Amino acid sequence: MGSCLFCRIAAKEIPSQLIFEDERSLVFKDISPKAPTHVLVVPKKHIASLLSSTDEDKDLLGHLQRVAAQVAASLNLDSFRLVANNGRGAGQTVDHLHYHLMGGRAMQWPPG
Ligand code: 5GP
Ligand code: ZN
Repeated sequence: MGSCLFCRIAAKEIPSQLIFEDERSLVFKDISPKAPTHVLVVPKKHIASLLSSTDEDKDLLGHLQRVAAQVAASLNLDSFRLVANNGRGAGQTVDHLHYHLMGGRAMQWPPG
């Protein structure tokens, strides 16, 4: 996974604006924010997409949602959106699973 962008960020080979880190995950600011708060919740394990995850990842996937909730609380976000784009047609551009945690503005529904 040497060339995976988010693996390289997790390994600190590429700098990021880190918000949170633990043994299994990290949260850093999106380089091109689409909301006043826009951070990415990323597992350190390389999983290409949600569709590529397996039952072995269940605990990790649950952990990522708890991390997202804790980071949202720490940023005083009571309204926010947690989004995983899966596949090019849904807008996925980085093939390492990540959740966009976005807040600080009104959100449209349905998303485009
Ligand atoms: P996706 O399009 O795969 O759902 O989301 C990938 C996100 O990663 C995009 O919102 C994009 O702005 C962000 N991104 C791409 N390259 C970098 C980078 O080098 N550093 C950071 N912090 N974010 C990045
Ligand atoms: Zn990766």
